[in-house]
Amino acid sequence: MRTEAQAVVIGGGVIGCSILYHLTKLGWSDVVLLERDELTSGSTWHAAANIHGLHDSTNISRIQHYTMNLYNALEEETGQSCGVFQPGSLYLAQTEEREHQLRLQAAKAKLYGMNFYEISIEEAQRLNPLVNYEGIRCVMFEPDGGNVDPSGVTNAYAVGARQRGAEIHRFTPVTATEQQDDGTWIVKTPKGDIKTPWVVNAAGLWGREVAKLAGIELPLQPTEHQYFVTETVSDVQAHGTRLPSVSDRDGEYYLRQEGNGLLVGAYEKDMKFWAEDGTPLDFAHDLFPDDLERIEENMMNAIERLPAVGEAGIKRVINGPMIWSPDSNVLMGPAPEVDGYFCCNGVIPGFSQSGGMGLMAAQWIIEGETEYDMFAWDMARFDTWATKEFTKAKVQDQYAHRFAIHFPNEERSAGRPARVRPVYETQKAMGAVFGLNVGWEHPLWFADAPGAVDTNGFTRQNWWGPVGEECKMLRDRAGIIDISNFAKYICKGPGAADWLNAVFANNMPKAVGRSCLTPLISKRGGIAGDFTVTRVAGDEFWIIGSGMAERYHKRFFKQVPLPAGTTFESKTEAMCGFNVAGPKSREILQRLTNESLATEDFPFMRSANIELAGIEVLALRVSFTGDLGWELHCATEDQARLYDALIEAGKEFDAGPVGSRALMSMRVEKGYGSWSREYSPEYWPHEVGLERLCKFEKDFLNKEAAQKVLENPVREQLVLLHLDEADVTASNADATGGEPIFKDGEGIGRVTSGTYGYTVGRSLALGYVKNAQPGDEVEVMVLGRPHKAVILHEPPFDAAGKVLRG
Ligand SMILES: Cc1cc2nc3c(=O)[nH]c(=O)nc-3n(C[C@H](O)[C@H](O)[C@H](O)COP(=O)(O)OP(=O)(O)OC[C@H]3O[C@@H](n4cnc5c(N)ncnc54)[C@H](O)[C@@H]3O)c2cc1C
Repeated sequence: MRTEAQAVVIGGGVIGCSILYHLTKLGWSDVVLLERDELTSGSTWHAAANIHGLHDSTNISRIQHYTMNLYNALEEETGQSCGVFQPGSLYLAQTEEREHQLRLQAAKAKLYGMNFYEISIEEAQRLNPLVNYEGIRCVMFEPDGGNVDPSGVTNAYAVGARQRGAEIHRFTPVTATEQQDDGTWIVKTPKGDIKTPWVVNAAGLWGREVAKLAGIELPLQPTEHQYFVTETVSDVQAHGTRLPSVSDRDGEYYLRQEGNGLLVGAYEKDMKFWAEDGTPLDFAHDLFPDDLERIEENMMNAIERLPAVGEAGIKRVINGPMIWSPDSNVLMGPAPEVDGYFCCNGVIPGFSQSGGMGLMAAQWIIEGETEYDMFAWDMARFDTWATKEFTKAKVQDQYAHRFAIHFPNEERSAGRPARVRPVYETQKAMGAVFGLNVGWEHPLWFADAPGAVDTNGFTRQNWWGPVGEECKMLRDRAGIIDISNFAKYICKGPGAADWLNAVFANNMPKAVGRSCLTPLISKRGGIAGDFTVTRVAGDEFWIIGSGMAERYHKRFFKQVPLPAGTTFESKTEAMCGFNVAGPKSREILQRLTNESLATEDFPFMRSANIELAGIEVLALRVSFTGDLGWELHCATEDQARLYDALIEAGKEFDAGPVGSRALMSMRVEKGYGSWSREYSPEYWPHEVGLERLCKFEKDFLNKEAAQKVLENPVREQLVLLHLDEADVTASNADATGGEPIFKDGEGIGRVTSGTYGYTVGRSLALGYVKNAQPGDEVEVMVLGRPHKAVILHEPPFDAAGKVLRG
């Protein structure tokens, strides 16, 4: 066994083996995989191993497509059979909402050149005559869908990796991972130690235990999961060719041919957790006792759709464990707080995702960043706030609704509230309907009375009207928006300016009271973040960024060493904020402070520590609504007093609370981008319109990468679109994000944010397009159907910025 390696992968399931394979494929041959038992000893060996390409998230679709196409190539490369069957998959829509979802996915598939399209019921009947198509509204076909052999695939990755120099040691449990003073690791096993700069945790069902060896807590929870295989079904046998699998997701089951029988798996409502206090170390190729009663409802749904399921006896039941994260996506990436430790844990569709997941992991480890924005998979989206209790509640919800549609803007209630700020009860009493953001409850909109909840769907929902009223109130008079979700930091000390200048691309403000906007540049030269930095004192800066990206940004901040005597500290929990905006905001705030808020004394992009209603606040004259306004940041213990004072002062002007959905609408009216939607590491500064904020006369993090990408012409450009009134009225739907954009039948881009612009009276969308200019007519695929739209020359609200600066 090697005593040193470029990386040590822990776990020989399908994911660990794929990571090992891809590390070697990207050029690292000095890599080792350690498996405590045989390969495939966790969830892998007993998986149904169905493979699908489509996913609601575009980047996850890309990864699943890469994976589906890889298996045949892997077989050819390694000579190891992957047991690939690709008879195709039929996706059935029983409801109007499912039809919207599938049509949207088909439109995305067309944009990205993926194989997924609508077929007639007659064609579906020809492909799979065993299905009862009664009540089916539409059918999509994915010709590459099917299943693989789980052991075959895992071994093929292992063979491929070994062929490029990797070592695999079976029956070699990792008993300790110890970080050394120089940041490298010693991985301990009974057969000896290995020194390495990279530990990769791919320990599947034991991901929690292995992470703990390095002092890392992962929010994961295993559950039981069952499928059964029938005896020979005469119609299956008689059919001759292999039948396409059936994705009847409204029935919460999956179904495919297995031998001459059928395989049916179910995500039942009455789900069962396993190993709540830790996965037993002596568990390997084990299963749980059958419990078909638990999945009876799902079985009945399957039998109704495919009567043949009920006609044959049950040959085999598999009841095995799988391990889930709170949102059922993998927890992936370098642990932000621990150097050289990479996690890839909590993988549910391992066979649909193994290839792309291995590739993304290898890119992240070797190249420092993935080619696609993988924030949806980044372990940094959770933190210690995702407690065991929260994780269990979410996993229960995710499992029982595995195939339920996740609607745009949907906020599921399981596990909440996880964390609340002092004004939570006050906002609740005011009618706030809350959303979850990094564990915090925050108001989305305000109903007439307490207790309202969102309805969900792809079309305009119950909040559409009230959000419009909030926007109009703010633009006509004023509104008070809780912005405590923003990430807040203080950088203090003699080296603060130098350090911030070395991290961020823009020049930091020189004068006290001045603010600047600045991008953070990613390893490949894209936009890793957008921040507002304010100099609040000679050697003290206040930094505001995206709340959801706070843990993600840690990875960047730690790359530049802090000068001695200088500190950089998160104030996100300790401080809260409100944005008071609208034409009357100045008058409202002036009632509460003796400081002059007149433009000549307090112009746009200036800041000051002031006393407001007797409370110390940092006031910044900025506003994400695009309107006249101030951001006010105060200590968390003062939040309730400040809120009461603002609400009370607003009453005289008929102004009141406004939620984040209204803020979203107003920032789109102004054409402002937002992190994770418009701004992402996938986009270059000049594609996003932030290149003028990159100052190349100084050094900053990833400057060379930014310089390099800026030499290239833009691939796509961020634009604002106005959707045709008649089309959106007919569908009763606005864009929400992710909809493809076509021009003359050609896919030219996609929507990143969509909303109704209530105060400009237009349905709007921000998005990226190529080969299109302002004034061009295009089609946006809202609900998967073409909606006419035009690319705007300028934002419909205050394009000249007069209101903002007024
Ligand atoms: C009943 C069932 C049906 C499924 N059907 C499908 C399906 O149709 N399609 C699909 O895509 N997915 C399916 N899955 C999910 C799929 O099985 C998983 O996504 C996948 O197997 C996860 O692989 P993994 O490599 O992450 O983890 P695992 O398979 O759990 O592998 C982890 C490995 O790490 C090893 N290990 C742990 N601790 C140590 C240590 N300390 N030292 C060394 N080695 C260690 C373990 O022995 C194990 O071999 C199904 C799962 C179940 C339970």
